[in-house]
Amino acid sequence: MKKIILITGFLCFGLVAKGFSQTVYSAAKGEKYHTADCKLSGDADSMTLAAAKKAGKSGCGVCKPDDHFKDKVVRCKGKTADGTRCKRMTSSKEQKCYQHKSP
Ligand SMILES: [Zn+2]
Ligand SMILES: [Zn+2]
Repeated sequence: MKKIILITGFLCFGLVAKGFSQTVYSAAKGEKYHTADCKLSGDADSMTLAAAKKAGKSGCGVCKPDDHFKDKVVRCKGKTADGTRCKRMTSSKEQKCYQHKSP
């Protein structure tokens, strides 16, 4: 019986995590939506991917949000100037955000 509860709990957690990863960023009047680590997202508001699509927005060609969600999103491995770990999330192979990955 305990096993069933554990499995159910795990499934619920998985769904919640998936929901969080599909957050995109788009300005109210913007036609494109962006990932969190896109340099073009600027002061855009966060919204779910589903909401952005419903509003008729399309994915940014620079950060490619649709590709982004196919990959595993990890926290950037880079370090900021003061030595703390970068807080940005990224799906790049290098596991580094646009600010930290090598050109
Ligand atoms: Zn973008
Ligand atoms: Zn970084």
